Formats: sequence, C-alpha cells, structure tokens
Amino acid sequence: MDFVCPLCGKKIERDVLSIKNHTDEHVIEAIKKKYPKWAKKDGTCNKCYDFYRKQLGLKNRA
Ligand SMILES: [Zn+2]
Repeated sequence: MDFVCPLCGKKIERDVLSIKNHTDEHVIEAIKKKYPKWAKKDGTCNKCYDFYRKQLGLKNRA
C-alpha cells in the first residue's frame, strides 16, 4: 500500500514508516511545532524522521 509522507509529500511504502514502532516523543513534538495539523498517526518517512531527530541533536539510529 502506498503512503504519502505528510511532511515531504513523498510516496513511500508502509513499512518504511518509522514512527509507529519507534515512538520518540521529542521528535513528535518537533514535527508538531512545524506542522501543527500533523498527528503521530499520520506518520512520516524515515528521511523526515531522521531529519527532525538530527535537528534535536539526537544520534541516528543504527
Ligand atoms: Zn517525508
């Protein structure tokens, strides 16, 4: 099933979604600050997730 990342608009595969199995409240808050309409259940692609992690100074997942 195709999924369009609400943050960057890119089409990705469902299993690429990282936020569901890897809940990081700090990242979620950072995304919500920039996208107030976004909700955790909307998900993001890995690229966006890592982008916001980096902005928070968090290390990349291995
Ligand atoms: Zn994205």
